[in-house]
Amino acid sequence: MNIVIFGPPGAGKGTQSLRLVKEFNLSQLSTGDLLRDEVNKKTNFGNQIEEIMKTGGLVSDDIINNLIEKKISDPQFKNKIIFDGFPRNLDQAKKLDILLEKYDQKMSLAINLKVDNEILTKRITGRVICSVCNKTFNIFFNPPKSCEIKECSKRKLNQRSDDNEETIVKRLKTYDEKTFPVLDYYLKKGIIKNVDGMQEISAISDQLFTVIRALRS
Ligand code: AMP
Repeated sequence: MNIVIFGPPGAGKGTQSLRLVKEFNLSQLSTGDLLRDEVNKKTNFGNQIEEIMKTGGLVSDDIINNLIEKKISDPQFKNKIIFDGFPRNLDQAKKLDILLEKYDQKMSLAINLKVDNEILTKRITGRVICSVCNKTFNIFFNPPKSCEIKECSKRKLNQRSDDNEETIVKRLKTYDEKTFPVLDYYLKKGIIKNVDGMQEISAISDQLFTVIRALRS
């Protein structure tokens, strides 16, 4: 089944997506990760979008739709995708429907992770990622600890360039103005599931597992 996971920056979309990938053998499509990859590799395209991402704006729909079609059109991911960070506006949501229809697929579930703004800010400003094992920690809620991976004794913690207080204000505003209305689009389709994203990480995943198992049976 295809799933879309919604929530403002810091809601835990990436964390929960990875858990769903493991549990249900799905494939995560994080547009933010794909874009960051281009920026880190310093490709021409990466250089073009770097400033937009740093300042919390949205990259153009054409670019994003292109990235998405590559994944949706690949038969190995047919009806197995978790969309994380996409769609981010109504046009993207409509385009996604067109693409799903083109490749004979459908969206089965839209998860909405709800988290208060105050917590979001702490989750984002405290977020650090280990560049060795790729694990995400939070200096306030989940401080970096030793890791199962050997090489990770040399743990190198990085912070995303857009994870600062100044950019957060803009990212939350972009979410409220552009992305929040997309929830209504899925509400009308009757596939929205609201989830309290302020619970413990594993309590949230347990809730999501139950919802997905019920849909699959
Ligand atoms: P994320 O990792 O999902 O928080 O995304 C980080 C940044 O990448 C966003 O603030 C946007 O600048 C850009 N981005 C990610 N996904 C999209 C999308 N679907 N449409 C436009 N811009 C996006």
